[in-house]
Amino acid sequence: MTITLALSKGRIFDETLPLLAAAGIRVLEDPDTSRKLILPTDQPDVRVVLVRASDVPTYVEYGGADLGVTGKDTLIEHGTQGLFQPLDLQIARCRVSVAVRADFDYQHAVRQGARLRVATKYTSIARDFFAAKGVHVDMVKLYGSMELAPLTGLADAIVDLVSTGNTLKANNLVEVERIMDISSYLVVNQAALKLKQARLRRIIDAFASAIRKD
Ligand code: AMP
Repeated sequence: MTITLALSKGRIFDETLPLLAAAGIRVLEDPDTSRKLILPTDQPDVRVVLVRASDVPTYVEYGGADLGVTGKDTLIEHGTQGLFQPLDLQIARCRVSVAVRADFDYQHAVRQGARLRVATKYTSIARDFFAAKGVHVDMVKLYGSMELAPLTGLADAIVDLVSTGNTLKANNLVEVERIMDISSYLVVNQAALKLKQARLRRIIDAFASAIRKD
C-alpha cells in the first residue's frame, strides 16, 4: 500500500523535510534540479508528488494524494471539505495583510460605507475581512505579483502574504492591516485515514513530535 504525500516546491517542501526525517523518511531527489513530479523516498512505500500550492487540498480531497502540507490561506480559499487536519505544523509562517501605496490615505478610504478596489489572490479572506468592517469592495482577482496592482492603478489596496515585509518595502507599499497569521497544516484524505490507518498514524505521530514548540 503506497503512501503519497503532496507538497509544493519552495518553503513548504524545504520546511517539511525535517518533519519527514523525524518520520524516518528521506526524499531521494532535489526538486530544484530534478524535473520529476513524483519523487521517490528511501521508504519504498512512500512517495512525494510535487503540485502547485493551491492544488494540494484538491489532490488530497480527491485521493490523488493521501496527505499533503498546505498553508492556512490556501485551506481557507479552497475549503476543508473531505480533509482531516490533524496538525498545525508551524512551518512557512507568515501573515495575510492589507497593503497600499505609501501615499494612499487608507483610513479615509475605509471609512464606513466607502468603496475600495482590492486586488488579491485571496478573495474569500479579503471579502470576509472587509465585509466585517462595513467596507464595500470591488474585488480584482489576480494570480501573482499582487504588489504591482496599486503601483499601476489597477487597485487601491492588495491583500497578500507578508513574511519579512521586504517585498512591500521594495515596491513602496506599506502594510496597513494584519488580517491573520498563517502557518502550514498537515491535511489527510479521510478515506485514506481509515484504509491506511496504521502507516499514516505513524507519520502523523512523528510529525507531531517534531513540531517546533516556540
Ligand atoms: P516578504 O518579502 O518576506 O514579506 O515575502 C513576501 C512575498 O513572499 C510575497 O510575494 C508573498 O506572496 C510571498 N510569501 C511570503 N510568505 C509566504 C509563504 N509562507 N508561502 C508562500 N508565499 C509566501
